[in-house]
Amino acid sequence: MKLGFIGLGVMGAPMAAHLVAAGHDVGGYDVHPAAGEKLQAVGGRAASGVADAVAGADVVITMLPNHPQVEAVVLAAGGVLDTAEPGTLLIDMSTIRPETSIAVAEAARDKKVRVLDAPVSGGQTGAEQASLSIMVGGDEADFAAAKPVLDALGKTIVHVGPHGAGQVVKAANQLVVGGIYGLVAEAIVLLEASGVDAATGLDVLAGGLAGSRILELKRQSMVDRRFAPGFRIDLHHKDMGIALAAARQADVALPLTGLVAQLVAAGRAMGYGSLDHSALLKVVEQLSGRVPAEV
Ligand code: NAD
Repeated sequence: MKLGFIGLGVMGAPMAAHLVAAGHDVGGYDVHPAAGEKLQAVGGRAASGVADAVAGADVVITMLPNHPQVEAVVLAAGGVLDTAEPGTLLIDMSTIRPETSIAVAEAARDKKVRVLDAPVSGGQTGAEQASLSIMVGGDEADFAAAKPVLDALGKTIVHVGPHGAGQVVKAANQLVVGGIYGLVAEAIVLLEASGVDAATGLDVLAGGLAGSRILELKRQSMVDRRFAPGFRIDLHHKDMGIALAAARQADVALPLTGLVAQLVAAGRAMGYGSLDHSALLKVVEQLSGRVPAEV
């Protein structure tokens, strides 16, 4: 297939490379020209702009930071909807608020462009290993058309409902992830303050009912205070905002999500925005007057 790929960052670059490796003709665009050159080096094509990436493409994928960038790339004059042929399938894989995904789908309907929201979970490693979980909102027939493309990017690929539903599932994912990080951080602080070896304690937790993928993958790096991203606190702050806005939209109260959102916001305010979200540990330590170890 002829694919356009817009947003070749931490996630988009390896994803676009997998699509090239799967045999697709991929034209990629990013505001940073070096990203296009990297794609060219693995057999793709560096597009000169959005219109160039979209021209003649059967499928256009966007992997952008947040809703303002998606609106600029998709909805603005000269954007995807302005330039795509009728029948083109647009798959937005960015994590954004559900209402923007719904607005994009409505705008696309007028242009006869098909749209899916398809945010991902699995992080940079998942993107590099093509093992992402992909939660897809939109029409069933469009999901079926997208599936062979998405198969090159992920392992768990599920149609979860209509437009915006993929983003709601991603919001639920992020509130669970944030909450578990917060509780693992509290466990470490309790263990250390009580004079119990945290690594040994968490080894036991990981094997019992408290076990989780986060404990499995991140307990050692947290105990060691290794916080290179990964997934940045800044991005998780954005996602907690999406989760709380979605809760408001759905008229439900999510008290734990609210608390975790404030801890993530505190991490950002303390200057940890560019650290991995496991750096929530630094915030929780400071609540007890414990000085975070310098790493
Ligand atoms: P990133 O900042 O590394 O990549 C985004 C890219 O979009 C950048 O290269 C940027 O230059 C480009 N861009 C911005 N505006 C543009 C425009 N107008 N036109 C063209 N390119 C533009 O971010 P990322 O980590 O790749 O994340 C992308 C999305 O995936 C975010 O919504 C994020 O929340 C989500 N996500 C990230 C991870 C992760 O672990 N990093 C995991 C799951 C989901």
